[in-house]
Amino acid sequence: MSSVLIVGSTALDSIKTPVAENPRMLGGSASHAAIAASYFSLVRMVGVVGEDFPKSYLQLYKRRRIDLEGLQIVPGKTFHWSGEYEANMNNRRTLATELGVFENFTPALPVSYQGTAFVLLANIAPSLQHHVLDQTLRPKFVVADTMDLWLNIALADLLKLLKRVDGFVLNDSEAQQLTQEDNVFNALRKIHQLGPKFVIVKQGSHGSILSSPEGIFLCPAYPVRNLVDPTGAGDSFVGAMMGYLSTARGSIEKNIRQAMAYGSVVASFCCEGCGVTRTARLTRAQIESRMKELRELTRF
Ligand code: AMP
Repeated sequence: MSSVLIVGSTALDSIKTPVAENPRMLGGSASHAAIAASYFSLVRMVGVVGEDFPKSYLQLYKRRRIDLEGLQIVPGKTFHWSGEYEANMNNRRTLATELGVFENFTPALPVSYQGTAFVLLANIAPSLQHHVLDQTLRPKFVVADTMDLWLNIALADLLKLLKRVDGFVLNDSEAQQLTQEDNVFNALRKIHQLGPKFVIVKQGSHGSILSSPEGIFLCPAYPVRNLVDPTGAGDSFVGAMMGYLSTARGSIEKNIRQAMAYGSVVASFCCEGCGVTRTARLTRAQIESRMKELRELTRF
């Protein structure tokens, strides 16, 4: 079976939305992405947690058959992020970011991970994304994700990273910040000039836009009616996309649209539960059923 290597944050999230409030749930960009990818391929995860990380969360990764050889468990506290959403859930505020064991984290790639063909550098400091990439052996397809924080405090590292990756995923406000362009299509063109061949701008409930050598693709979002907690939707999107791509036969160009549609579907499930509760308990049949609906909804 094919596999995807995923590095990112492995976190405890305390999140307040208008309909739910939960402390110290399993979270982090790598956790969301790995769980989403696990419905399509084997996942090799790289991250770090402290000794306070609940055993039940480790078991949840294992239930999804995520390879944990690259997950370090070290003395200290697990990365903790807390955030609060506004009434419409489009905007959120970070209340606290406690780096804990991420402060001194140096990812060491197990030998068994080094030749992985598909690599997802999920949201984490660009210096750590570089460090993981340095230890891989000629991967076939590398995608990086990021967040506004790194545009603000680690832009030089991020720009260097963009010269090393095939794909780059970011949300529309980040694309605007990076390029100083209000028009998303102009922003996409400018981001290509920074390096990546495939650029995806996520627009939350409005879907996402891919720009690649084949042109533009508008990927719809699945309509979510029961929105509970959108945290991790972006990570689930890119995780599912990479999981599907790693198993699909043929070129990236041929498969990426279908892969993004899978990303939309898994992200929609993510929004319907707190943290990973909904995405950790899916079946492939449920995913396929929403894929069918999405196809019908956008056929004309
Ligand atoms: P998303 O909703 O897709 O933007 O991802 C939310 C996830 O990002 C949460 O599970 C957080 O734990 C994680 N996160 C928040 N801040 C950071 C950060 N500075 N570095 C890495 N991950 C973060």
